[in-house]
Amino acid sequence: MDLGLSGRVAFVAAASKGLGKAAALALSAEGMKVVVAARGEATLRAAAQEIATQTGGEVEAVACELLDGAAIEAAIAATVRRFGRLDVLVANGGGPRPGGFEALGEDDWRHAIDGTLLSTVRLVRAALPHLRASKRGRVIVITSTSTREPIAGLLLSNVMRPAIVGLCKTLARELGPDGITVNNVAPGSFDTDRMTAVLTHTAQTHGITEVEARARTEASIPLGRLGRAEELAAAIAFLASERASYVSGQTLLVDGGRTGAY
Ligand code: NAD
Repeated sequence: MDLGLSGRVAFVAAASKGLGKAAALALSAEGMKVVVAARGEATLRAAAQEIATQTGGEVEAVACELLDGAAIEAAIAATVRRFGRLDVLVANGGGPRPGGFEALGEDDWRHAIDGTLLSTVRLVRAALPHLRASKRGRVIVITSTSTREPIAGLLLSNVMRPAIVGLCKTLARELGPDGITVNNVAPGSFDTDRMTAVLTHTAQTHGITEVEARARTEASIPLGRLGRAEELAAAIAFLASERASYVSGQTLLVDGGRTGAY
């Protein structure tokens, strides 16, 4: 299937590793010019180089601290300076800290509001004039299955991700007249560094080993395994594509069939 993405420009936030990097790779493989943004400049540059080598595409690394609104604006401006336009925004971030209500303090809440909710708002705000100019703009936010049902031990995700669904639904309505679609992809459990950190936290909380925590997670998934980052990236590439031109305001669960909620 031709996704119709060739020659267009994508900005992928938090893309030096994990799900963001896989998304950048998939979009580059479809012929897009891609900016990867994240903190940690050395890893980011290596990621951009690795993707460019694999796809033969144009991939630019732009260092960006997502807790800093001015840095987000600068990164989007750098994208448009480099490639002349912006068609696809993949809004991603490091994810809120794990823990239940009594384990989380004021600082954790502020970090989650800033890092998960406001960073998404700021990315969209900075990208919006360029997505409008594109006439076929796409916003795809990486969220979580906590958009559908709460995940034990991830209270901040359970609060922030549904807020992002509200944001996406509303934006889909407000920006539809500009030809912009707004969707979010909700990963279940994917084999990334973030998942390792979550499994470590689960193991500590339940007094089990990380191997046991991983086995329990795998057993909870109908497909019997964690997801591979490229499996989420494929869903993102579809939503970014011309083939998804009439899909907007949706939450697409990519979770191996685990989430029970309709
Ligand atoms: P990861 O730890 O593998 O990668 C995180 C990326 O975010 C890195 O590129 C890192 O540099 C960047 N980053 C983190 N904080 C940043 C900041 N303040 N400024 C700039 N860049 C920052 O994580 P991942 O597994 O790819 O997860 C990505 C997102 O998806 C997270 O929000 C996570 O909560 C969510 N998610 C992941 C899973 C999963 O199974 N991996 C499941 C549900 C939701």
